[in-house]
Amino acid sequence: MFRLVSGDPNIYEGGWDTPQHMKDAVIDAIKDGYNMYPQRLEGFHGKLVDSMIRWEKKVNNLNYAPGDIIPTQGVAGAIRLTFPLLMKPGDELLLTDPTYIPYKRVANQLGKAVFFKTIEEEGWKPDIDDLRSKITPKTRALVIIHPQNPTGCLYDEKTLKAMTDAAGEHDIPLISDEIYGPFILDGNRFHPLASAAGDVPCLTMNSISKAYVATGWRVGHISVHDPEGKIQTLKEKMNANMAAAGTIPTPIAFGAMAAYDGTMDHIPAMNRALTGRRDLSHRRLNEIEGLTASRPQAAFFIFPNVEATGTVWKDDYEFARDLKAEARIAVNPGSNYGDKHSHGHFRVPYLPGEDVLEGIYDKLERFMKKNVC
Ligand code: PLP
Repeated sequence: MFRLVSGDPNIYEGGWDTPQHMKDAVIDAIKDGYNMYPQRLEGFHGKLVDSMIRWEKKVNNLNYAPGDIIPTQGVAGAIRLTFPLLMKPGDELLLTDPTYIPYKRVANQLGKAVFFKTIEEEGWKPDIDDLRSKITPKTRALVIIHPQNPTGCLYDEKTLKAMTDAAGEHDIPLISDEIYGPFILDGNRFHPLASAAGDVPCLTMNSISKAYVATGWRVGHISVHDPEGKIQTLKEKMNANMAAAGTIPTPIAFGAMAAYDGTMDHIPAMNRALTGRRDLSHRRLNEIEGLTASRPQAAFFIFPNVEATGTVWKDDYEFARDLKAEARIAVNPGSNYGDKHSHGHFRVPYLPGEDVLEGIYDKLERFMKKNVC
């Protein structure tokens, strides 16, 4: 069985590993006796936040003050911290269709997920008119993933501005998950949403999981851009809740600071390898009869369209079930990621090496020939 399910760069043959200087910093911290509660180490929280502030300046050219940065246990921890403070039953969260699964889940647990259209033929760019039409008095935030999982879409400055304007006109805060920010292909540039947000409040969620191939470390942070203090109370509550819950395990925080203050020299080589895997995936998937796939510009996912959904297969769940049973390839069905624009798709993380991917696409091709032709 080949599990082509997770977006974890640590687990695939031909994947990557955490940089050595981060591992050394954790081991040294443990050996040096830094095994106490982080709160017991005088000034430690401030040091961690300061290194995150330096990282935001270095990587995103954004200026944050200490209270604006909240360390979290990964973006997952940021999600757990933010949404219960933002939403109550009946409230709505505005999401791209497709989105990252936990946003859909948390929205429906606390209130309601409301999806707006993204346009597959245009590389999954958001349909701004549809976005605007979905805003209601109950909308609590507009959430984007930038660059996007599961489509690999990279939003340009014009698109970011259009989304910011729509949110600003209705006093809705922006939430931008920028965990894939370093993985930009084809020489394109990444523009953090906060840099286009002006006076619209923007919470940016980020982590070292992907950028430093450290998914199991559980380290991330929320950056609060709020020049006019519109979400001051929310920011205070988030800081207080995180302080009460504790943040990042002490030795791991030493490793994280080594990451934030260290090099990102591993990224260009990763992006070169990902470009090859993206090109291969895009070509092979489009050559298979019955599949089409829009070309990702960033991150490491492609979201193919199964044209025979509704005829050969009732839906993408049935397609994924048969693919697993017959070809021994496990994938995530598209419907998990959203609503009608996600239906009939599946997600491929193109993280394995090219040889492995070729083998998977060979099997997928045989499976499609057998079922569709
Ligand atoms: N956000 C997105 C868009 C993701 O794709 C993932 C992991 O796949 C996460 C967040 C999880 O982040 P973390 O490991 O920092 O909790």
